[in-house]
Amino acid sequence: PSAMREVMLELPKVRWEDIGGQKEIKKQLIEAIQWPQIYPEAFKRIGILPPKGLLMIGPPGCSKTLMARAVASEAKLNFLAVKGPELFSKWVGESEKAVRSLFAKARANSPAIIFFDEIDGLAVTRGTENDGTSVADRVLSQLLVEMDGLEQRSGVTVIAATNRPDKIDPALLRPGRFDRILDVQPPDLSDREDIFQIHTRKMPCSSDVSLKELASLTAGYTGADIKLACREAAVAALEENLEISQVSMKHFKIGIGRVNPSEVIFYQNLA
Ligand code: ATP
Repeated sequence: PSAMREVMLELPKVRWEDIGGQKEIKKQLIEAIQWPQIYPEAFKRIGILPPKGLLMIGPPGCSKTLMARAVASEAKLNFLAVKGPELFSKWVGESEKAVRSLFAKARANSPAIIFFDEIDGLAVTRGTENDGTSVADRVLSQLLVEMDGLEQRSGVTVIAATNRPDKIDPALLRPGRFDRILDVQPPDLSDREDIFQIHTRKMPCSSDVSLKELASLTAGYTGADIKLACREAAVAALEENLEISQVSMKHFKIGIGRVNPSEVIFYQNLA
């Protein structure tokens, strides 16, 4: 038996409407992954093959994971998610085996998406942080072997995500591997309004709540921050009165005040 926890198969239930903004990335995911599933004959006729690997780059909390789950849901694909660092094992050879069985499982359950979050934790540029024979190197080599061996019509698409593109080994980006780059940006003003709308759907809001104003108060907030701010707004309402039945603008202002915008922190740390 493997010392590593087996990667679970999921059939996620995330709709495109659950994601605010990111219109361009949604379009790219639909064309690269959903279309080849729905219209295989069209792809054949026109003489193109679907991409095997896509790399999403962008700061944490900006819906990379959410979008990968959404495309799996919308295209009805099985979903196997793994965080880069999870693939390390202290047992020699065990990590490569984990990569092999992950791909085998995806092929056996195709059409499927393999999602590697924090791929930078795995695909660190070889030779920079180690002597070239570390577990990371061996896992990366195995990943490349699996990507290269993947049939383009196998129905398996690999999506990787990172917020440290500078740490990615360029070997991963060669044609036939992760050759589509999706640049995931933090939400702009109108995206933030959409995200507030999504995360207040199930909240009874008073008529004084302006989503537009909330969006303008949250420059530098990621989608994850906004979700948290909405929750904090509801908590602030309950703190005022446990019998309260509506969340109002003042509660949202309190909620926003309780959450620090991660985008600012993220870019400060990179600098
Ligand atoms: P990480 O790099 O940390 O994995 P991520 O970019 O993958 O971050 P997610 O895990 O997808 O981010 O986002 C965290 C949560 O924040 C999501 O589950 C979702 O609830 C919320 N969220 C983030 N972005 C959006 C968005 N654009 N619309 C709606 N909700 C969002």
